[in-house]
Amino acid sequence: MTSSSPTLGKPPTPTSPLPAEPAHSLSPNTASATGPQAPVRTGHCACGRLFYQVSGVPDDPHLCSCERDTRVSGGPAVLWVGFPKDSLIWTKSGEEPKWWYPYPTLRCGFCPDCASQLVSEAEGSDMVMVNGFSLTDQSGIEPVGHSYRERAAPWMHVALASAPILGPGPNPVLD
Ligand SMILES: [Zn+2]
Repeated sequence: MTSSSPTLGKPPTPTSPLPAEPAHSLSPNTASATGPQAPVRTGHCACGRLFYQVSGVPDDPHLCSCERDTRVSGGPAVLWVGFPKDSLIWTKSGEEPKWWYPYPTLRCGFCPDCASQLVSEAEGSDMVMVNGFSLTDQSGIEPVGHSYRERAAPWMHVALASAPILGPGPNPVLD
């Protein structure tokens, strides 16, 4: 499941850091991400103009410290977490964000008033990546990976969630 999700800012890696069946899950609900009981999460921008909801089990929560994300966010990393794209609903009068295309195949949705970056969608992907800090309930989205860690601010130290580590040795999720 996780191998099909996009990692923003870089091509998908051939091998997923997450096992198909984690030894123990970050989320208490490990049911099908798109099943009838898929949990709903809500989120919104900083000023409250845009509200959305997504459903399903959070997929591949990870930090990204690529130049685009750090410039846009003004912080050392953005926390991205995937949900099924068809579960995304803009719930406040149906208003969608303003879309920015950093690449022809990637669009990022942000609030035209407060500039909060809310979602990112890669063309052809069935997942939408949500800015984890825009979610109302931020439980169960502890990052298990850190993209562009080598480009992160040198003073930034992150303790990634340990769920995907199945044995001794270097953390396999670094990339
Ligand atoms: Zn706003």
